Amino acid sequence: MNQFRFSRRPDIGDKVRVSFEFFPPKTDEMEARLWDTVTRLEPLRPKFVSVTYGAGGSTRERTARTVKRILNETTLTPAAHMTCVDAARHEVDAVVREFAEMGVKRFVALRGDPAAGVGTAYRPHPDGYANGAELVGALKGAGDFDISVSAYPEKHPESPDFATDFDMLKRKADNGATRAITQFFFDNDLYERYVEKARRAGIYIPIVPGILPVHNFTQVANFSARCGALVPAWLAERFEGLQNDSQTHALVASAVAAEQVLDLVERGVSDFHFYTMNRADLVFAICHMIGIRSHETEAAGSAAA
Ligand code: FAD
Repeated sequence: MNQFRFSRRPDIGDKVRVSFEFFPPKTDEMEARLWDTVTRLEPLRPKFVSVTYGAGGSTRERTARTVKRILNETTLTPAAHMTCVDAARHEVDAVVREFAEMGVKRFVALRGDPAAGVGTAYRPHPDGYANGAELVGALKGAGDFDISVSAYPEKHPESPDFATDFDMLKRKADNGATRAITQFFFDNDLYERYVEKARRAGIYIPIVPGILPVHNFTQVANFSARCGALVPAWLAERFEGLQNDSQTHALVASAVAAEQVLDLVERGVSDFHFYTMNRADLVFAICHMIGIRSHETEAAGSAAA
């Protein structure tokens, strides 16, 4: 890494915006960890924080509870993920109304994974929305919402080719999506080429990179294989032999993610979505490196000056 190329420019923090993704906790212990994470990341003033929705609406109650708590107890702006899996249109519409009545103004609209599991064929509910684009259209009809959708720099695993993917992304944009957030990736060239191709396909909404800090390389490698994300050999080498050395693993993970994000900043990217895995430390450190400071750090700095 070239230290001069990546040295922090004082103006970067003003231009970069971040959002954070959380998943709804299953147990009291996980709930406590999530709220520690939210409390730690809140002073970074993200543009929004999103809360995922389990397959087939399996986390519906927990997603709603988490979103409600964010609305009631923090200054953060929540975005609720929604999927179409195993639900009739009127059921999806009812969930959207429930969120809207709560005060939710942002959604992440997804088709979702097949109910029988990733790798099986997706069968839309006979009365349901068939894909992300149809869900975006329904949301847009229901209110003036900010709608994020998915994008896949390495192609969606079910998709026969990139053209099919771009076709779907264009339909989502045409139906009113505000931005796309990508599946995580580790090779920035792939992302850059994907954005160029999307523009050539007439898709002009922002395509925000989804960044996954590597908390556990073995798990990330397994998950990547399932969702079609490439794990480059250099990345595997960085984590080689660190399975039982969590401290070094965390330091390497922080360096890897910071390097990726700083390189994207150099390429002109200004918005980042972090898959936090409900953990704050790596994300906080990376944000600090790109010049995003918490209220508290700024206040401490001006008091010392
Ligand atoms: P779509 O945008 O509808 O389709 C994705 C692509 O798949 C299309 O481009 C198309 O090429 C292809 N495709 C779609 N339907 C078919 C078909 N019938 N046959 C062949 N090809 C097809 N999952 C959750 O369960 N909950 C979440 O909260 C969640 N959050 C996510 C957030 C982000 C930012 C991302 C990137 C993904 C998220 N996912 C989530 C995963 C997502 O649900 C899966 O990747 C799912 O398989 C596709 O959903 P989609 O909205 O991307 O689908």
